Amino acid sequence: MTRLPLLALLALASLVGCNAQQPAPAAAQASSDSLRASSWCGVLSPDAYRVLREQGTEPRFSGEFWLHEEDGVYVCMGCGAHLFDSGAKFKSNSGWPSFYAPTAAEGVGEHLDLSHGMRRMEVVCNACGGHLGHVFEDGPPPTGLRYCINSVALDFVPRDSVQLVAPASRPVD
Ligand SMILES: [Zn+2]
Repeated sequence: MTRLPLLALLALASLVGCNAQQPAPAAAQASSDSLRASSWCGVLSPDAYRVLREQGTEPRFSGEFWLHEEDGVYVCMGCGAHLFDSGAKFKSNSGWPSFYAPTAAEGVGEHLDLSHGMRRMEVVCNACGGHLGHVFEDGPPPTGLRYCINSVALDFVPRDSVQLVAPASRPVD
């Protein structure tokens, strides 16, 4: 019977997912526009890590927010950036939270995604680079767009608590 040496197994384990211990990146190495993927280990849940950092997709009809109707804002689970307002949310029956527009155009980035044999526009958080979902051109007025976002990439802040997480760029009263 052939057995892999223990060290080889440990090396393999370190390459799988984000369960392995990673050294904290030195402050001088931190990128100004995105954090190294390894720095998210232990910060995000395994499901959120798979979506935000590994371009995964949660199963449809499975997420916390696809039927969520409370008034407030949806923020990035990775960095807390304001991304979508509940006022722009609509029922799409896609099984994922759907919005016709982001709160601010500069809040999200869009990149052509040709993976899985499809031609789609990927939507990412512009603040941390996290993968959020995709945008399609079959949404309702006024934009005709459908931002199809993974629940696990989002966190929800009720309207009466929004000022507590206001963007840094907002003027202070
Ligand atoms: Zn983010």
